[in-house]
Amino acid sequence: MSIPPKYADAKYVFLTDFDGTITLLDSNDHMVDTVGMGYAERRKINEEIINERIGFRDGFRTMMESVHRPFHEMEELVRRDVKLDPGFKEFYAYAKEHNVPVIVVSSGMTPIIRSIFANLIGEKDANEIEVISNDVNFTDPEKEGKTWELVYRHPDNTFGHDKSLSILPYRELPNPPLLFFAGDGISDMSAARHADVLFVKDKKDNDLATYCNNNKIGYHLFKDWTVPKQMLEDLISDHVLYRSWAAARPVSRLVDTMSAGAGEGAYSFSLTTFSPSGKLVQIEHALAAVGQGTTSLGIKATNAVVIATEKRAPSPLVDDAALEKVALVCPTIGIVYSGMSPDFRVLLAKARKMAQSYWKIYGEYPLTKILVQEIATIMQTATQSGGVRPYGVSLLVAGFDKATGPALFQVDPSGTYFMWKASAMGRNMTNAKTFLEKRYSDDISLEDAIHTAILTLKEGFEGQLTEKTLEIGIIGQATKGQVGAAEEQQPVFRRLSEQEIKD
Ligand SMILES: [Mg+2]
Repeated sequence: MSIPPKYADAKYVFLTDFDGTITLLDSNDHMVDTVGMGYAERRKINEEIINERIGFRDGFRTMMESVHRPFHEMEELVRRDVKLDPGFKEFYAYAKEHNVPVIVVSSGMTPIIRSIFANLIGEKDANEIEVISNDVNFTDPEKEGKTWELVYRHPDNTFGHDKSLSILPYRELPNPPLLFFAGDGISDMSAARHADVLFVKDKKDNDLATYCNNNKIGYHLFKDWTVPKQMLEDLISDHVLYRSWAAARPVSRLVDTMSAGAGEGAYSFSLTTFSPSGKLVQIEHALAAVGQGTTSLGIKATNAVVIATEKRAPSPLVDDAALEKVALVCPTIGIVYSGMSPDFRVLLAKARKMAQSYWKIYGEYPLTKILVQEIATIMQTATQSGGVRPYGVSLLVAGFDKATGPALFQVDPSGTYFMWKASAMGRNMTNAKTFLEKRYSDDISLEDAIHTAILTLKEGFEGQLTEKTLEIGIIGQATKGQVGAAEEQQPVFRRLSEQEIKD
């Protein structure tokens, strides 16, 4: 293509389809539906075109040939019924004021488009806008349009009028403008691939959106022309740096990143879709929720386990007697969390139910690991199901098993779990873990473990750490009691009272 395009020096060029994009009703569809083959038959042809079984040129001609009415009658019909999109006038005025050329590229017939335009935006603007479209030939002997036929701009091209041919010459310029294209239907399929920024009209029977989805072409849906106008405004007032993007990046990436595309951000809204780098981003967000929660920790001593957490009422008016963050699952297992308390409550209820039904079947409470596996499964399921989100909590589970003694597990939102000697989670996790690593020894006693737990929490606590702002749960030899109907005494999980913590 050696002829330079008309607006070679422009920064932006806005190309747009006419029917159904600038107007609310497609004039050709309207003729076909009203006096031609009708809606149902026309939709069948549309389907064939979207799926590229037939070309637009042949399909569209078949539709138009089903209209056997004088041309002026059709002109009256569409002038009467076709209305302008609400935001277009303002968009056009803005574009004109800022020297952004607007070019209408259409598969419709020039006289029809001019006629509708004059009706909708006035003769002056209608004559000013550049229209590149197909034409019409009156085939009756008097040339009055009693009979007529469509004349394609590119009769040899399968599109009849290949709209991409209005875009591509700009691409070949050494400094191409940023190319916008707005469309709504099957006639826009060829142009859709070649625009920098593609707008697809949000409407019923959205053939262009279907085509773009099938072919992984990124686009912006727009309800009306206030949307493209806003984007132009942002660009021109430099709120958005698409211009520099356009220079720095391959074009398709530009479009992708702005709508549902390859950016990591786009995947963060779908839980069940991996991002290109292999992450389930929602799980990381859930971990972030845990990271904002209050600090909790657990320490396994020689013959016991301690779990502890900060307890802070959101307001001095809240009665903290009812606040409970260290909780009993069953006599042999206790649990503490960091993250979202409602999520914890749900998991706790499930864990308790599980422990009870285990007891009903086996006459004893589950091993800590068995219970942890069940909780982890529930949490994992929430990362692999539609319509749910991961649990926003991490748990520390403390238990004492008859055969193996004390056990401490951590379960995370992804459903992974580990067995720990000591662990911390929540807001001050990193410091707390470092502190625990320094203080921990394999032969730590229960007394020492409680003391270490308090010291660790003190490290990161803003304000005075007192028995009122601290919760501790323990299980071990020192907490023996009757479990269920068992004769012998076994370690039982219990929360320390405020008085005990004080001492
Ligand atoms: Mg259209």
